[in-house]
Amino acid sequence: MIPGCVPWPAETARRHRELGLWTGQTLDVLLRAHGERTALVSGGVRRTYRELADRAARLAAGFHDLGVRRGDRVIVQLPNTPDLIDTLFALLTLGAPPVLALPPHRRDEIGHLAAHTEAVAYVIPAVHQGFDHRELAREISGPKHVVVAGEPGEFTPLSSLYAEPADLERPEPGDVALFLLSGGTTGRSKLIPRTHDDYLCNLRLSAANARLGPDDVYLAALPIAHNYALGCPGVLGTLHAGGSVVLTPTPSPDDAFPLIESERVTVTGLVPSLALLWTEAASWSSYDLSSLRLVQLGGASVSPELARDVGERLGRVQQSFGMAEGLLSQSPPDDSPELLATAQGRPLSEHDEVRIVNEAGDDLPTGEVGELLVRGPYTIRGYFRAEEHNARAFTADGFFRTGDLARRTETGHLVICGRVKDVINRGGDKVPAEEVEEHLLAHPHVRAAAVVPVPDPYLGERTCAYVVARGGPPTSRDIDTFMRERGVAAYKIPDRVVVVPSLPLTPVGKVDKARLRSETP
Ligand code: AMP
Repeated sequence: MIPGCVPWPAETARRHRELGLWTGQTLDVLLRAHGERTALVSGGVRRTYRELADRAARLAAGFHDLGVRRGDRVIVQLPNTPDLIDTLFALLTLGAPPVLALPPHRRDEIGHLAAHTEAVAYVIPAVHQGFDHRELAREISGPKHVVVAGEPGEFTPLSSLYAEPADLERPEPGDVALFLLSGGTTGRSKLIPRTHDDYLCNLRLSAANARLGPDDVYLAALPIAHNYALGCPGVLGTLHAGGSVVLTPTPSPDDAFPLIESERVTVTGLVPSLALLWTEAASWSSYDLSSLRLVQLGGASVSPELARDVGERLGRVQQSFGMAEGLLSQSPPDDSPELLATAQGRPLSEHDEVRIVNEAGDDLPTGEVGELLVRGPYTIRGYFRAEEHNARAFTADGFFRTGDLARRTETGHLVICGRVKDVINRGGDKVPAEEVEEHLLAHPHVRAAAVVPVPDPYLGERTCAYVVARGGPPTSRDIDTFMRERGVAAYKIPDRVVVVPSLPLTPVGKVDKARLRSETP
């Protein structure tokens, strides 16, 4: 275990193994079972499981030659491409956990990840969506190696790393396999260490619940760097089942629909904003989408209307509520149409211990809304190198405080009712309010700031920043430019900036965000 990770108590780990929840395998096993079947389709590229396994072995050897060793962290910021799949499996094979950054992350986020993980390497595309990642890499200190998929400039080309496969030291099933980024937290993104054992459990349960088999074809519409499209069941769950993964350059119907028709895609996962776009497009599109047998909806609040609409126009819905920290609650295959539209599924494992508690931490009866706490075989026991935060985010006996508000139904389903954490869920992209406020407070013309969600018909929520000016009031454009210059990902830049004379306070003197939310026109 890498220092700074919180292991499961030995007795709990032993029970998970005994129960077969943890199978004692490592994630690279996913490429070993299905030989000549098609594993990956992307543009003109079609690769079998055997080819993927060969490429991963060669690339693992190349990373090893570069000096990357078991336990080293490697920041990976690649879009959904075959390079990402190769890199992921190479690092999983090597036991050097990839730190999965999202493609929109910029200097501020990557700099933080580099410092916090002491990553030895940073893997990037040359240019993605018009942005030159090599320029970003030049501004990041820490990682000894920058590896570029594409034209490398002064850095190491990814293509040069495919070496002769070598007999390398192997990771243990209890080792950290990968680091995911937390969406919902105070301050900066926390790092979520997922072990081979626990993540395999995660994707196996999710693949089984979705009834994935070798004939399934999964379209990765959302970023694979995100837990939802990576392992819920996503890319890795599909490979576990022996199915094929199809990558699309963008999730827009223009790119995705032709692929659904030509590859006979059976399963995909969408966030609500994308599902809205797809259902609209499906009504005029002439592409044949009839192969879709399951459309997952999740990542953000899903209205019953949208769930019904997706069910009618795209394919059977599966609601998915989950988090990179672990717990997954997904619709079982036999859910009634009513539950499919109104509930966010059921926790995947009977060993997921779910509590709904009031503010005092007392358990609430079925049907009452409170904060959702969870402990289980694939829910972490602590963030990486975050002792102080862990003391607040986890109970003394290891339950994770999700920050989500939920109620449980008599049928054991969860219905998500909001959240207590100070995060804006912008169409599935999580914007931590406190982090944005810190940036705003650094602006010379901002004395005080509070960021709150405002409802949005398309994204579900957008961000609104209330600011108290110091001197001349800043405009939205000033804030936009300022935050970009600070190297912040674009999705965190406030959608609206409202200048106010003062911020309302609660009786204990904290900013009254509830009032700001309710007063936002
Ligand atoms: P992430 O770790 O980025 O996947 O974000 C997890 C958070 O997204 C959860 O804690 C929820 O706040 C939110 N979330 C995920 N799925 C849903 C859903 N189906 N409905 C409402 N919120 C969701």
